[in-house]
Order: sequence, then C-alpha cells, then structure tokens
Amino acid sequence: MQLFMTCVLLLGALSPTTHAQDSSESTGDSAKLRVIATIPTYGLLAEELGQDLVEVITVCRPGQDLHGVMATPAFMARVRSSDLLFYTGLDAELWLDGMLRGAGAVNLLPGNPNAIVMSTGVPLKEVPAILDRSQGDVHAFGNPHMWTDPLVVRDMATRVGDALVRLLPEHAEVIRDREEAFRLRLTKALVRWLTDYASLANTPLVTYHQSWRYFLDRFRLVRVGTLEPKPRVMPTSGHLTKLVETMQARDVKLVIREPWQHPQASEFVAERVDVTVLALSTHPGWPEGTGIIEHFEHNLAEIARALDLPVSDPGE
Ligand SMILES: [Zn+2]
Repeated sequence: MQLFMTCVLLLGALSPTTHAQDSSESTGDSAKLRVIATIPTYGLLAEELGQDLVEVITVCRPGQDLHGVMATPAFMARVRSSDLLFYTGLDAELWLDGMLRGAGAVNLLPGNPNAIVMSTGVPLKEVPAILDRSQGDVHAFGNPHMWTDPLVVRDMATRVGDALVRLLPEHAEVIRDREEAFRLRLTKALVRWLTDYASLANTPLVTYHQSWRYFLDRFRLVRVGTLEPKPRVMPTSGHLTKLVETMQARDVKLVIREPWQHPQASEFVAERVDVTVLALSTHPGWPEGTGIIEHFEHNLAEIARALDLPVSDPGE
C-alpha cells in the first residue's frame, strides 16, 4: 500500500504546474548567462533547462569528492566572470568561500541573490544533536548529500528554473517548458524504479561515506554502517573489525564505495565477509556520459545485479 500511494502521489504531480511567465519578445542573440555549479547534478540541471542560453562550468567532476575539491588558477578566471552560482550549502563545500574570494567573484558569495543554495527546503537527514566538528570535518549541520534522491532532484529542477527565469525573463516560457519536460521524465522513471526495484527494500548494506543516505531511504535500502568511522575520517582497523561483526550479524551482501575512495577499507571487509563491492558515484557523469536519469538508472541496475535481482527496463 505504501508503494502504491507513493506512485499515485508521484503521478498526480505529472500535471503541468503553473508558473508566472514573462512572455515578452526574445532578445535573440544576447550573451549567454554564465553559470557555476559546484556538482554535476546542478550543472546538468542548468544545461537541461538553459541549453543555448547558458554557459555552465561545474567545479566537482563526476568521479571526484565534493568535499575535497581544489580549483585550478585557470578555473578561477572563469569563476570571476560568472553570473549565477548553484551550490549545496550547509558545509558540503567548505572550499567554496575561498574559491569565490580568490577569484574575486564577490557577486556570488553566499547571501547574494545570485548564489542559489540548493539544500534550502530539503528536510535534512542525520542532523547531529550538537554542532561539533570532532565528529568529522563535514556534516556538522546534517547530511548534505540530498541530490542522491530523485524526488529531491525534481524539486531542484524547479529551483534552477526559478533562478534562470529571474535572470532571463524574456526566455521564461521555453525554460519552464524544459523544466516541466524534465520533471515529467524523471517522475515517470521514478515511478517505474519504485515499482521494479521494490524488492530492494530492507536490503542491508554498507557504504564508505554517508553520501548515499537520501538515495537509500528513497528505495528503502538499509545502511547498517559506514567504512569511515565519521564523515571524512579515514577508516581504522578497529572500526572496520567492529563493522565486520555487524555485517556478519546483519547478513550484509553489498558494499558501495565511490571511485575516489580508497579501496583498502572495502578490501579489508571483503576479505572477512562474503560481499560484493560496487564502485558507484553519487554524481551523474560517472560512468562517463550519463545524464541525471541515466545515472540513477545505472546505479539501481548495478545494485540489483549485485543482489541477483531483476533489472528494470527503461524501454524506449
Ligand atoms: Zn559528505
């Protein structure tokens, strides 16, 4: 019943929403809006909705840790001349303030109307009882990896659409049309995933970092532990030894690590527990060329295959 109701609610959201639009004439060949995105999901959303109207640069690559990005000097020059920024906020991008100040992009510092915080309005998971960086150097405000939930990404498309329409009001109609088309494709895919991957529910697994929590909750997978003892704290043999006991007790068959995370920790547990270790990224574009929906498709299929479960057919 829970799955059925979720699908009904999602399908109800397929009807077009009404947006305020400025239908004044197009300005034609005006210069492109220069957009910075901290992660591939925001960059791809800006490209999907803006297309020829925008020029997007994305700081974190699909196979890179958002928390540990280093901007090159050449990149800084591009940041300096940008008009609009999409970033997660909280403490996901602790490097961002330094990058913007270093580039002289004061117009995009947090608090500026053209610095768009993508975590706004998303119910936070794993919020610590106290703000304390001794628990790890990130996630002090809660888990910021919410773009791993397709339903959150659907709302993020609207946030991107709102920002583009505000800065490009003469193109409001086409931007909103693209936004609706994307939301529709994502919703249809999500309804199919929730149905075809219902058998993933209650599967226990282990991840390296806390980055998958929103994804796991959407598909009702259960994380019983992380290879890191705390966010962005290197795994220790003591922590991993205790984790192995938990994995054996909970009959864990799957470990997910991201491509930038050291394989040694997953190898340590795989030598002691009969598990499949999957290398998956929380960022679209890994594997190379995947868009947002194709990326979710890939990750779900890989998890299903690892568990000997059927893989959903995207059709078309
Ligand atoms: Zn994190």
